[in-house]
Amino acid sequence: MSMNLTRRELLKDLGLLGAGITLAPASIVGNTVFDWDNEQTPALSRPSWVRTADKPTMEIDWEKMQRYSEWRTTRGSFVEYVGKERDDRLTKLQTENLDRWLKQNKPGYTLKDRALGVATGQGSGAQGFLPPKDATTPEKLGVPKWTGSPEDAARMVTAAMRHLGAGTIGFVQLDTNTTEKLIYAQDPDKKEMKIADVDLPSEDDKTRVIPKKARWVIAWTIPMSQETMKTAPTVLCQLTTGLTYTLNRSLQLRLQYFLAGLGYLGLGEASTNALGISPAFGTMAGLGEMSRLNRLMTPEWGPITRVFKMVTDLPLAPTKPINAGMFEFCKVCKKCADFCPSKALSFDTEPTWQVRGPWNNPGHKAFFEDSTKCRAYWRQVGTNCGLCFTACPFGTKNHAFFHEFRNALASATPVFDGALKAVDDWINPGPANPELGNPFKDPEAWWRRTDLPIFGINTSSGLSEI
Ligand code: SF4
Ligand code: SF4
Repeated sequence: MSMNLTRRELLKDLGLLGAGITLAPASIVGNTVFDWDNEQTPALSRPSWVRTADKPTMEIDWEKMQRYSEWRTTRGSFVEYVGKERDDRLTKLQTENLDRWLKQNKPGYTLKDRALGVATGQGSGAQGFLPPKDATTPEKLGVPKWTGSPEDAARMVTAAMRHLGAGTIGFVQLDTNTTEKLIYAQDPDKKEMKIADVDLPSEDDKTRVIPKKARWVIAWTIPMSQETMKTAPTVLCQLTTGLTYTLNRSLQLRLQYFLAGLGYLGLGEASTNALGISPAFGTMAGLGEMSRLNRLMTPEWGPITRVFKMVTDLPLAPTKPINAGMFEFCKVCKKCADFCPSKALSFDTEPTWQVRGPWNNPGHKAFFEDSTKCRAYWRQVGTNCGLCFTACPFGTKNHAFFHEFRNALASATPVFDGALKAVDDWINPGPANPELGNPFKDPEAWWRRTDLPIFGINTSSGLSEI
């Protein structure tokens, strides 16, 4: 279906949608409670339209896939990709724009936005690859380490992580020919990530060593504030990303203490985005599907979440990938690509094996992005943008009936995807004035809200019996 629908086409598709309404309830209701026998990702009350699958919806060629070095992303190699002259120009532009907008009191870039941004980054725990040395281990207590089945362990870790602030949690078993390739060859600081037949992990100036016996990866999400994200691409929007990283640094450290307290290793991200490819582990663990953003899309929060991981030697029952119809929806939607001011995202209808540059890792069939265009725009606005996340229909709160209905219908069949996207265009239009740095939604309206959710996220999923 055409993306530029005429009114007549839209009404025709909404007619089809009407037919879909009669089908949808069968998709919405069902086994909504986590049941390990179904191999569901053990998030609490995941909707029944989140179906598990043996393979992710994105194709992977494990033979072609090699372990990737994180520093080759544009985060670490932007200057190399665009040249020093352009990088210098962008640095100057970034400083000038942020300074001018601060002095002009431009909504989203004002003094209060800047102050909250700095405040958000404070107070997190120490972040490191190796487990903490001062943990109270079973050995120190004179008792044996915790034992139980991998399913028991997965449930226990899930409960602990929800307590510590994770959104959804899944588990991946490392296999030399497949999932182990998602561990970075080199971390952001260029240290080699060795997997070796040793008993204990170690770290020196050049290397981090993961013992071969640590065969399990815990992957988890921490959702970001959808309300704050809607103010993209401002300083205010950026701080929801910052808050998630700050919260996770504490969560990671606490998880390392918890695992050590049980008698097991917890090997963390030595720095932001280190250790392994987060969206890939999230996909394999069933936390979401890959998307046109070439990022993880979750059923719970769309792309408005961050994904983290830890390697452990505690045997954990793996969770399965999912198919909620979201990757399929991306084929007809393209809303994020339309909204992207730098035109960094793919407009292709089908994913491809062909990468766009060395910032992409070959071996999966994806919607690859021109990451240099994206990063250059970030530099111009002085933030991490996020307009594409904001525009995504799945990034809108799922409480409204239409969103629940849309998600269930998109999961059941791709037939109505175009019409569902057209309805989203109508209820979720973009910024009135899409000039450089102008927000999707008014940041000053955000500051007038006094009823925002705690940490900006919906924490109400789960049980509340007391
Ligand atoms: S973050 Fe902004 S510039 Fe980058 S892909 Fe998304 S919309 Fe485009
Ligand atoms: S905006 Fe549309 S195409 Fe882009 S990630 Fe979301 S659903 Fe996919």
